[in-house]
Amino acid sequence: MERRARAWVSEKVEVQPYAGGQALMATAAIAAGERLIALAHVFVDLPHKYTIQIDEHLHQAGTGEADDFMNHACEPNVTIDFEALEIVAIREIRAGELITFNYNICEWDIRAPFVCECGSARCLGEIRGFRYLDEVERKRLEPWLSPYLRRKLGAGERGDDDDTSGGARAAG
Ligand SMILES: [Zn+2]
Repeated sequence: MERRARAWVSEKVEVQPYAGGQALMATAAIAAGERLIALAHVFVDLPHKYTIQIDEHLHQAGTGEADDFMNHACEPNVTIDFEALEIVAIREIRAGELITFNYNICEWDIRAPFVCECGSARCLGEIRGFRYLDEVERKRLEPWLSPYLRRKLGAGERGDDDDTSGGARAAG
């Protein structure tokens, strides 16, 4: 894999003001399968708000680039190609739509859980990470899961028996 110090970002997406902050939006029509961002190959070993979990102790770092501004949605319009580390549209996206992915396809245990307001009929409400999903939702997300969470799913790992970090995890 060629190393990238910075992200490559399609001209069809742009960080724009949204809901008192900023969010990534489509500025042109995007076809299903289009590649929108190639993530920077910058990694950290602990998660924080802008990281994307790749493996147990490997997280793509927040670099202040476009990918940091992708909101979560329970039925999103992009996913992550974990081989290439690229953001890919999973359906057609109209100009003006928010670019969203499901954080639960890669994050095992989100450090700062939040309440999702995506409006989808499948909205889970509080988003806390794959660790906390029931079997039905785990299976639903299977096609998009990171290799790391796929291993967890295959091992039938539940959320309550594998935390070896020894504790200073903030509760709820
Ligand atoms: Zn939702």
